[in-house]
Amino acid sequence: MLAQRYPLVWQKKKFFIKIFCSIPNIATGILIKADKSLFVVDPGDGILRDLNNEIGTEKILNISDLFITHGHHDHVGGVWSLLTYLRVMNKKTPLTIHYPEGCVEIESIHNAFRKVYSKTLPYQINLKEIKNQRSYSSSNITVRPFPVIHKEYLHDGKTTRQVPALGYKFIFDGLKICYGGDTAYCEDLVKQAKDSDLAIIEAGHDEDTPDEMHMTLNEAKEIGESAKEYFLVHVPE
Ligand SMILES: [Zn+2]
Ligand SMILES: [Zn+2]
Repeated sequence: MLAQRYPLVWQKKKFFIKIFCSIPNIATGILIKADKSLFVVDPGDGILRDLNNEIGTEKILNISDLFITHGHHDHVGGVWSLLTYLRVMNKKTPLTIHYPEGCVEIESIHNAFRKVYSKTLPYQINLKEIKNQRSYSSSNITVRPFPVIHKEYLHDGKTTRQVPALGYKFIFDGLKICYGGDTAYCEDLVKQAKDSDLAIIEAGHDEDTPDEMHMTLNEAKEIGESAKEYFLVHVPE
């Protein structure tokens, strides 16, 4: 297991990832560089501050893709400010937002954003709703989305429902980074994490009683250890 104090950084050749943070119910924020291409994964609250510190305005404008694992606020809380910042700073190149089918949070943020700014938007936003788990290429990386199991409670505090949720495997220059997002133990994640150069695995459950929302430390470690290196994230503080 690699060190676990945020930010977490990993780099091989020209493939780089920095996890600014991943704190349950607060925020996640991840930057990926593949040579000169820049991608953001799960832009939670604070992402703009972290990107500004890390790469500065000019490079923020070059971000080509956002990848969303699911619509919980700790994973999408920074989307509105990021979209707005790109408008204010006059981004010219398109931005693609990849998100799981049925993720109403992203669609709602996008609709509201268009409603307010469509007449004054200098850049194009492409929504890519992921309906199947086939690999595809975006900019200069190959992306393999995969389904994960992530539930949430309804009002009664007892009944649960599945949240549209994905993990992503990013492949660049023969290197593979697997990020599961928020998930309970699931076979798809087991399969995708295995033999990855880096696996980023959540361990959001605080006791050894598995549920269908997050993984325990032991489950997460077991999956992480099947990759060449791994980070545990989303651990309750
Ligand atoms: Zn979360
Ligand atoms: Zn979640």
